[in-house]
Amino acid sequence: MALLKQKADWIKARAKELGFLSVGIAKAELLEEEAVRLKEWLGLNYHGEMKYMENHYDKRVDPRLLVEGGKSVICFSYNYYTEQEQLDPHAPKISKYAYGRDYHKVIKKKLKTLWMDMQKEFGEFGGRYFVDSAPVMERDWANRSGLGWIGKNTLLINPKQGSYFFLAEMIVDFELLYDQPIADHCGTCTRCIDACPTDAIDANGYLMDATKCISYLTIELKEDDIPEEFKDKMENWMYGCDICQDVCPWNRFSSEHQESDFIDNTGKLDLTKEDWNNLTESEFNNLFFASAVKRTKYKGLKRNIDFLTD
Ligand code: SF4
Ligand code: SF4
Repeated sequence: MALLKQKADWIKARAKELGFLSVGIAKAELLEEEAVRLKEWLGLNYHGEMKYMENHYDKRVDPRLLVEGGKSVICFSYNYYTEQEQLDPHAPKISKYAYGRDYHKVIKKKLKTLWMDMQKEFGEFGGRYFVDSAPVMERDWANRSGLGWIGKNTLLINPKQGSYFFLAEMIVDFELLYDQPIADHCGTCTRCIDACPTDAIDANGYLMDATKCISYLTIELKEDDIPEEFKDKMENWMYGCDICQDVCPWNRFSSEHQESDFIDNTGKLDLTKEDWNNLTESEFNNLFFASAVKRTKYKGLKRNIDFLTD
């Protein structure tokens, strides 16, 4: 037991040195209840065009099938909160997480460093690490490993840090000391449900119809047009949506991130509404060359901007 704790403490301390906000560890096992909820959610077709969510169901609900010999799931959070805002209050809005460089690349590099440091410290071991990139139920693992509870807005919330953070995981083939989940602190609050402009969150919370969520509509939906029913409900969001985090009282505990790669270094926050309306493909490429926004391509972002103004 002492050795398992010692190893876990070493990983947590090194991860914090590398800039991770929190680290929690859970035993790799079947996600029994979570698997039932995933099946129900898929059955309701709330995942819409995100068909990849249907793939690898067995591996998704059991990390031991994803990583042979997997014993522990180490979960990490990485802060992206900033007080910085777009200069023009009328400019179409970008979600905070996409102000800087693509988080996949930034965090994967950190995980690689940690992975190599762990190999040096503990000797060779097997496993894999992930940033939003494989069939891993990351919110459920973060919940099980004590990083926070899954709120009514379906996001992971930490009582001391809020919810503006990315999640990442390592699945490794050795045992560690495991953390305990944190209790749900949403209580009678319904702010996120009340504030969601498209009613994407179920009236009782904890269930999201992603096909109605502005993040899905502006990022995942690949069709030429956003459905007309959302015409007056977008609240000026052109990439993602932060409303159900902005209104969450636990986010008063968010603190400014310290990651230079998440600072806008291409001037996207300085653009006016007019600049966005006249955005050319080459400006798009310059603004978003190393950004997660690249995913929508010029055509997708233009579609979103036009939908707000037409
Ligand atoms: S991100 Fe926006 S649209 Fe999606 S559930 Fe939250 S408030 Fe609703
Ligand atoms: S806004 Fe309220 S109900 Fe929604 S996630 Fe935050 S605490 Fe929970």
